[in-house]
Amino acid sequence: MEIQQIKEQLTWAEVIKHYGLIADKQARLKCPFHNDRTPSLQLYYKTRTAFCFSTNCQTHGKAIDVIDFILYYEKCTKHEAIKKAESIVNPGAATTQTTATTLRQAQGSTNEKAMFLERMFTISKMRCTTPNLQGNTSRAATLTINNSKSVTMPGRSTTGQGKMKA
Ligand SMILES: [Zn+2]
Repeated sequence: MEIQQIKEQLTWAEVIKHYGLIADKQARLKCPFHNDRTPSLQLYYKTRTAFCFSTNCQTHGKAIDVIDFILYYEKCTKHEAIKKAESIVNPGAATTQTTATTLRQAQGSTNEKAMFLERMFTISKMRCTTPNLQGNTSRAATLTINNSKSVTMPGRSTTGQGKMKA
């Protein structure tokens, strides 16, 4: 996004809301750039500039725009301030990226989980088919396959059945 576009889209209301600041009815703000007791940072909504009337202020003597405001507030470079401004204007861009990453991660973990369960299932299936072939073991194994939700503990239930019947 071009700086000009950002400046056109980013309003003072959004900027100060982002930083948890509140302007009074005269669009004056307690200046965050110097130790300000009474609101002396005047916001100009139309031109999207601001001016601090305190001579103690690091910004005094010049009008600052939304990008400058972020720059002073974050104590960052102009480039970073522009990035920050862009993220305030268009928070969706960053969020979409995060969601995609989270989704990918979730999918990855699901696959791992499925693989783990499959391995567990194979092991327990081997266990319950090999040792005591008492006729109904194969039926028990089939039941376990059908009831794949209890796949975490198939060995136990089969053994339990076997014991009860013995
Ligand atoms: Zn100031």
